[in-house]
Amino acid sequence: MEKTEVKSLYAEELSEALKELGQPPYRARQVFGWLHQKLATDFSQMANVPKSLQRQLQERFSLAALKPVEVKESSIDQTRKYLFRLEDGNVIESVWMKYRHGNSVCVSSQVGCRMGCKFCASTLDGLERNLTAAEMLEQVYRIQALTGERVSHVVLMGSGEPFDNYGPVVRFIRLLTDERGLNISQRNITLSTCGIVPGIRRFAGEGLAVTLALSLHATTDQVRKALMPIANRYPLPEVLEACKEYFSVTGRRVTFEYSLIRGVNDSPQEAASLSRLLGGLHGHVNLIPVNPVRERDFARSHRKSIEDFQKILEKNKIPATIRREMGQDIQGACGQLRRSFLQKGG
Ligand code: SAH
Repeated sequence: MEKTEVKSLYAEELSEALKELGQPPYRARQVFGWLHQKLATDFSQMANVPKSLQRQLQERFSLAALKPVEVKESSIDQTRKYLFRLEDGNVIESVWMKYRHGNSVCVSSQVGCRMGCKFCASTLDGLERNLTAAEMLEQVYRIQALTGERVSHVVLMGSGEPFDNYGPVVRFIRLLTDERGLNISQRNITLSTCGIVPGIRRFAGEGLAVTLALSLHATTDQVRKALMPIANRYPLPEVLEACKEYFSVTGRRVTFEYSLIRGVNDSPQEAASLSRLLGGLHGHVNLIPVNPVRERDFARSHRKSIEDFQKILEKNKIPATIRREMGQDIQGACGQLRRSFLQKGG
């Protein structure tokens, strides 16, 4: 029988499991603290837990720790990209970014991805498997332990589609924001989706104050379908309606991500349509100069088109920022580092 991953358990579930082993509630609190505050990687590190119980835990649960196999640090902005090996040999990537407001980790939610967005490197080899809550937590925990600096912000913007792995992603967010764990503020978490409408609706009802980011990238279904296959399932009006609902239920402003691709979606006319589309949605636009992926022939918009695009949005009272590019020299774009590692025969 497969062992249960101890780090994926909620505090209450851990307490229940330890009760079955005849342990009092304070033991469960100690173990939970070792896992989620002291970031233990082995039961033997739990100094105030009796050796006999450490052994019982060892027999009953698995405790997966991610192993860093490659770390790249940007010489421009201190961004670090980590390539981690999972227990089953798969590799995933996570990014650590330093901002004035704190340190942020960009977490992967799946090994690979099956959404097929045309400009994205994560999806080129399809989906390998979902990550567990523990494996998502480990990306944050290992990076905090390795850097020795507190992580205050987390973005689910690495490889994978979070709503294609719904249950473990919600579990991850609840554990990450548990006050008995790292206690990261829900407001400092952003989940980015390609627009899976039932996922957005369900997520709105979770009672979490998390920021939703929607990958929009186009102003018409025609262009969106050419870039993102998911647009065939969920047309724009439905996606935008779900975002509106997310805002009205949670009170959290939605971020709309728009990757600018030269000659594809970056004209002044499209900036004007985008303003009309988002008027009244209380959203914010994050313009991302597309990161060219070797396997695809998309080019980044010229600086001037990017700035003009932003100006038109702002003139129409749609707040818009141009994403500061982090880690440009270390293959910062989704899935690029993992891919080049696998191609080298890692
Ligand atoms: N599956 C989620 C998370 C993806 S990554 C989603 O689709 O939202 C986070 C953002 O980066 C998404 O908006 C994604 O569309 C965008 N992205 C992916 N590859 C990119 C690239 N090469 N250049 C610019 N943006 C990219």
